[in-house]
Amino acid sequence: MFSLMANCCNWLKRWQEPVRKVTLIMVGLDNAGKTATVRGIQGESPEDVAPTVGFSKIDLKQGRFEVTIFDLGGGKRIRNIWRNYYAESYGVIFVVDSSDIERMEETKQAMIEVLNSPKISGKPMLVLANKQDREGALSEADVIESLSLEKLVNEHKCLCQIEPCSAVMGCGKKIDKSIKNGLYWLLHIIAKDFDALNERIQRDTTEQKAYEEQKKQERAERVRRLREEREREEGRGVPDEADFGPGNCENPFQPIATVISENEKQIEKEKKRQRLETERATVVLKSPTGQEQMDVEHLSRSSSQQTNDYRLDTCKSTQQLQNEEESEQQASECLDSDNSKKKKKTKLKRGHRVEPVNSEDTVPQNPTPPPPLPPVGWGTPKVTRLRKLEPLGETHHAGV
Ligand code: GDP
Repeated sequence: MFSLMANCCNWLKRWQEPVRKVTLIMVGLDNAGKTATVRGIQGESPEDVAPTVGFSKIDLKQGRFEVTIFDLGGGKRIRNIWRNYYAESYGVIFVVDSSDIERMEETKQAMIEVLNSPKISGKPMLVLANKQDREGALSEADVIESLSLEKLVNEHKCLCQIEPCSAVMGCGKKIDKSIKNGLYWLLHIIAKDFDALNERIQRDTTEQKAYEEQKKQERAERVRRLREEREREEGRGVPDEADFGPGNCENPFQPIATVISENEKQIEKEKKRQRLETERATVVLKSPTGQEQMDVEHLSRSSSQQTNDYRLDTCKSTQQLQNEEESEQQASECLDSDNSKKKKKTKLKRGHRVEPVNSEDTVPQNPTPPPPLPPVGWGTPKVTRLRKLEPLGETHHAGV
């Protein structure tokens, strides 16, 4: 009767206890059986699980506890991330593959690393000596010996319990009783010393957050400095306008905006040139000589080339245009004297015309122009269009 009443009191006491949130970490080498264990606890089939690569998190309710378990990947290269979870952890579940005797030393080293952390030392640790169903698996005592477990936990003042188990034996309610018992033990120890543990965890997590924040700021500062440096270098890389002069080499690494605007200018220039060339084709001063024909061909070739590489040809083309302009002026002066009645045609601006460099040859040698012919179209031989162009010289001069 007395014990019944005591049990009732205990139950009532527990019922009144607040819900406690507890975080645990599950660590151990890769392939030890961590994910299989976690899945078994969750009630999922522990069969056919792949080794944990990053980490997974499970939440479960156990009596008055809301438990979060971080299943952390055990690969050699990612074991470093374990320490990021130490501060918030109330206890540790260390899973050992009891059948993998060759990796016992590696397991021991991993365990020492964990216990050495000041954020873990003093906290309870459950060791699951897993894969007991396998032939040749080390017994509980052998695992304790292989890992020098007693020595280790005493050194780090960690309360410890070892449970020989098999994660693949069942899941949910049928889960290996040893796993269940081990989990109860861990939560019981945490509950016994919950307030002190909780206070420590709050302090440690605040510290950790401050440390992470500081690291974050340092990283941001490093990135900012690097960016500034790069921008400064890029700023130096952009040439002055003077650098674009003939003979100067351009920096091949220019900001894209500069290149685009440059190209647009060149395209505009090219279009103008092509327009003038077309106009010129319709109003050639005289039948082109062989040299002229070649020059025209050369120009149109260079025009198409310019489309691909404007910047290379800029200086050359500009100079050529100037020369041709001069030649054109001379030619028009000669023509003006003979053709005063064709002043009306003001459409063509001969100042922009592109003529062969040796354009003196383009001035008609014969001062007498051929007899006037009716207006002609595109297909008309160029000679017949000579008279149509003649007044333009004067127009050009008038403009000047
Ligand atoms: P983790 O890398 O520690 O998460 O290991 P896993 O849980 O992914 O398990 C690795 C392999 O071991 C899987 O093929 C599991 O099926 C298998 N395994 C896990 N626990 C046991 C066990 O108790 N007995 C046997 N025989 N195999 C297990």
